[in-house]
Amino acid sequence: MLLNCDPNDREGSLKLVEELTTNADEVQQQVLQEILTQNADTEYLNGFLGGSSDKEQFKKKIPIVVYEDIKPYIEHIANGEASQIISAQPITELLTSSGTSGGLPKMMPSTAEDMDRKTFLYNLLVPVMNQYVDGLDQGKGMYLLFIKPEISTPAGLMARPVLTSYYKSSNFRNRPFNRFNVYTSPDETILCSDSKQSMYCQLLCGLVQRDEVLRVGAVFASAFLRAIKFLEDYWQEMCSNIRMGHVSDWITDPGCQNAVSGILRHPNSELAHLIESECNGKSWEEIIRRLWPRTKYVDVIVTGSMAQYIPTLDFYSGGLPLVSTMYASSECYFGINLKPLSDPSSVSYTLLPNMAYFEFLPVEKNHEELNHGVRCNGDSEPNCLNKEGQEEGEEQEQEAVDLVQVKVGHYYELVVTTFTGLYRYRVGDILMVTGFHNNAPQFRFVHRRNVVLSIDTDKTNEEDLLKAVTKAKLLLEPLGFLLTEYTSYADTCSIPGHYVLFWELKMRGNGDLPELETRIMEECCSTVEQSLDSVYRRCRSKDKSIGPLEIRVVKHGTFDALMDFCVSQGSSVNQYKTPRCIKSEKALNILDSRAVGIFFSRKTPHWEPFRIEAK
Ligand code: AMP
Repeated sequence: MLLNCDPNDREGSLKLVEELTTNADEVQQQVLQEILTQNADTEYLNGFLGGSSDKEQFKKKIPIVVYEDIKPYIEHIANGEASQIISAQPITELLTSSGTSGGLPKMMPSTAEDMDRKTFLYNLLVPVMNQYVDGLDQGKGMYLLFIKPEISTPAGLMARPVLTSYYKSSNFRNRPFNRFNVYTSPDETILCSDSKQSMYCQLLCGLVQRDEVLRVGAVFASAFLRAIKFLEDYWQEMCSNIRMGHVSDWITDPGCQNAVSGILRHPNSELAHLIESECNGKSWEEIIRRLWPRTKYVDVIVTGSMAQYIPTLDFYSGGLPLVSTMYASSECYFGINLKPLSDPSSVSYTLLPNMAYFEFLPVEKNHEELNHGVRCNGDSEPNCLNKEGQEEGEEQEQEAVDLVQVKVGHYYELVVTTFTGLYRYRVGDILMVTGFHNNAPQFRFVHRRNVVLSIDTDKTNEEDLLKAVTKAKLLLEPLGFLLTEYTSYADTCSIPGHYVLFWELKMRGNGDLPELETRIMEECCSTVEQSLDSVYRRCRSKDKSIGPLEIRVVKHGTFDALMDFCVSQGSSVNQYKTPRCIKSEKALNILDSRAVGIFFSRKTPHWEPFRIEAK
């Protein structure tokens, strides 16, 4: 079930979408049959099905799993065991996801063929977008794309993030229209492993070609805003480069140097002056429209945790449409947004039935009473206080249903069976059905199961946060302090955003809280950071996409006030459980107005590319 899509053939591509969505169930059954037939002899499937490729048996006998269940198989592959243990097609690389397991990134299997499946989805985005925005072929796209570090497993397989893998592939190099230079970033600048040189060169190329730019973007909103911040810091130097027709000497990467020199061919003081006058203004409001005046939209994902960046994007873009085109992960690319110009709050993704076999675990979204009954009752799911001051929650599991069986308005956790060796794997994303396109359901991304904090690609769950806080508070205990309550908040008002923890402390015994020693509190901030997972530490140390962690110490009684607030919003007093993350502005004000000390981490946490030990 490997389909082709010619992005130049709008009619043919859109017809394909209609066919796939009309025959969603048939396509899904075909996909499952193909996966089972191909992989019946793998150790994994054979162990449950004894060589059968029967679809009914599959549902009865194959368990629904999480990463820990399949980790031994992945480790065997990383260590050189034949990948046939899970996949008949050779596993060509492992894709490191932003989730972690035992301190290391989770790794998802990938095959050569899967690259073409991803390309199919990317190609489909072109005709879908062209339906809504005319004339995109009359100019360029300024897409700021980056690669991340990769490692080699003991068996010599590459382990790297999915986008790094894609950008380094020939599929990316040969992507539609690339040879006509319709993107402002030369491939060499995207593939430069020095992220600072890469960012500088891509922005510089984007500025030089500003008159041609019709759309701007990055994958996630956080990366795009980081680029804007970088521009704020470097525009003067870039203007000087444009004026001289020469890129700065610190751009030493030969690929970048060559590519940028090819674009920055002549000194252009007129352009330099124009950019300077825009950047020099009092405010950077609408800077995107001003620097790239023909821009029609900003192509960045703003659903899920990225929604927190919408106001800042609106500020810089002057209200340009924000377009979330696709929904994908390291496990598998899932689907696309068939109405790309819809408002961010109503974006729905249509899962493409040919990409994988999808199942859905029904999840009871707890509305009002159910919410407070279940969520505050000491369960282990994260509880967050949302904008309305209500706790966000799920969930009670039932049997998984097929793609076409989901019901509008219902919540589900996504489970995938892929062409690459994952069988009934829980992705961890909670989705809500908003409607159907033909017979294919459309989903709103609700949230990732168990994640409380996320600034960039980091996803910190409640357990990780608790572990990190527990470690840090040990520094205070010998001094007689006890941490009585804590919660957290992702502060994205500045770029980069950062984690904020609210701590309520008391003295052992009944003494008043003495003045807090800044050095110790800063050490607590650093200890929390050092204890968070490797993706957090990479974002913080290498990518610089997260700022120093902050602890705000609040005065005695603050968490009682928070509880009073929650109760006033409908929480039951008996079943109240402190929310471990805060999104509600009112709740935030309650905490902030009682802050008695604010401390930041002064060290960047240690991070190095992980290693997989040979076994
Ligand atoms: P990773 O495996 O690190 O690539 O992360 C994949 C995860 O990112 C998905 O499972 C989602 O939780 C999240 N994600 C990807 N695309 C979107 C999207 N369009 N909207 C919201 N969240 C997304």
